[in-house]
Amino acid sequence: MNIALIAHDEKKELMIQFCIAYCGILSRNNICATGTTGKIISEATGLEITGFLAGSQGGDQQIAARIACNEIDMLLFFRDPLNPKPNEPNDMNLLRLCDMHNIPVATNIATAEVLIHGLERGDLDWRNIIK
Ligand code: PGA
Repeated sequence: MNIALIAHDEKKELMIQFCIAYCGILSRNNICATGTTGKIISEATGLEITGFLAGSQGGDQQIAARIACNEIDMLLFFRDPLNPKPNEPNDMNLLRLCDMHNIPVATNIATAEVLIHGLERGDLDWRNIIK
């Protein structure tokens, strides 16, 4: 499965902890991420990650384009609900595209854990069938 990761600055540490905890599962999938998010995760975990541009440079739009082409099977987007920075990716477009293409998406760690356990259990195998 192709999993995309994005974390606003306030949530990057949480994303690292999540990826450390689920490194085993993540390592059996293809991971891509916005620039800074991908860099800090690969430094912390050693995971191989396809890094796009930084969010402020359009990395989120690179991920959005892949979602639109049905090339992403899951989006984990840890957003800052309180004070997102003006240059941080806007979630509405990404979430809209996920809804368009029925892509499982989590915007917080609690949902992300449910999705990652479901992935491991095979709950998302239907995505291989529709491709
Ligand atoms: P980044 O993009 O991973 O490059 O930081 C996401 C963000 O800007 O929040």
